[in-house]
Amino acid sequence: MEVNHVTDVAGAPSRDSLWAGPRSRATASTVTSLRRTNRARVLTHIVLNDSTTRAAIAAECGLSVASVSNLVTDLMAEGLVVESGSLSSQGGRPITVLRRRPDGAYLVGADVGERGVAVELYDFTMAMVDREFRGGRQEEGPDVIAQDLTSALAELRRRNPAPWAKLAGIGLGLPGIVEPTADGGHLLHAQSLGWPPLTIGDLTPGSDALVLAQNGAKAQAKAEQWFGAVRGVDHAVVALLGRGVGLAVISDGVLQHGWRGSAGEWGHSKVERDGRPCRCGARGCLEAHVGADAMLSAWSQAGGRPEGDGWRAVGQLLDSTDPAAQAVVDSVVAVLGQSLGSLVNLVNPERVVIGGWVGLRLMERLRDRLEAAIRANALDRPGRQFELSPCTFGGASVALGAATLPLEALIEGPLQRPAGP
Ligand SMILES: [Zn+2]
Repeated sequence: MEVNHVTDVAGAPSRDSLWAGPRSRATASTVTSLRRTNRARVLTHIVLNDSTTRAAIAAECGLSVASVSNLVTDLMAEGLVVESGSLSSQGGRPITVLRRRPDGAYLVGADVGERGVAVELYDFTMAMVDREFRGGRQEEGPDVIAQDLTSALAELRRRNPAPWAKLAGIGLGLPGIVEPTADGGHLLHAQSLGWPPLTIGDLTPGSDALVLAQNGAKAQAKAEQWFGAVRGVDHAVVALLGRGVGLAVISDGVLQHGWRGSAGEWGHSKVERDGRPCRCGARGCLEAHVGADAMLSAWSQAGGRPEGDGWRAVGQLLDSTDPAAQAVVDSVVAVLGQSLGSLVNLVNPERVVIGGWVGLRLMERLRDRLEAAIRANALDRPGRQFELSPCTFGGASVALGAATLPLEALIEGPLQRPAGP
């Protein structure tokens, strides 16, 4: 995890921008207490800065040192913040350094894919404590995914009883549209996977913890917004390229959800009229050209022999000197260049971030070509204004981003622990 010194506040995102998810909007009217709002601002500052001081918090949050002292006392009583050493000052009186208490709270983030789940337990400094993976099979239905998720959570709980007692909640990064419902819950619509609409309760039956959900690409973007390549960046697009293709748009510092949560369904934007059939039922979708299965099947049809259908096969395709493989790679670069170039024209991002297991491989092998193709397909001015970067947290991005959902809930209000064991 990145270490920020007490004076390093320039990179912090605007605090209000981090609260704009659908769940936060739904609860915003209940968050009327000024003290609660100020607690959230102070705690956000402490989460974003590895170490800080009461004076630095007061200066950055625009609060009096007396107010900050009261709020910090409360946060210490909640067990979230600890005094940790001191700095010398010019006046001679030492200044107490404040940090998050690693064992103050724990968070779970789950990357829920169509072929398995990766469930990660983090401490309050967002250091990963433990991890469980289930899956690796071919296509899985929602029942199998729910079983995988339930069994991975049960195993993490069995191995980590003390952290589980301080669990702030579980965040799920899901493969589809995550639509907020009137009762404050969420529905998953995974049309490409052929799943029926699912509630979060369908995926985590019997869980007594707070469970929150977000689309996987948006979860990845939240990890980047809090701790990675989009920290402090108000205008960005964050692409997730794997078997499926997703996107998150950050505009004015706010992750965009659209009216009912489906904003950013970039994978099903059309790149060819009457083009290749897509899993969603339509033709010519971006995902049917640059998703992992699409790339590998195009190579197979041209005589290639990929080893399996995972990251090794994609690496093999990208490294191959076979003209058929190179034609597939040329096509992927051209189509992504067109599509991302159009996004640059639409959104005018300061940063374009590419993640996902296919996206990271493309950035390792073809970054310069991809960058040139995006710039060539955008108007000159916005095409020169963005910076291209890979996702910061590699394969852990979606799970880490999902864990920021309960992190935000904890920041919004103190942990409500269920009574009893
Ligand atoms: Zn499609």
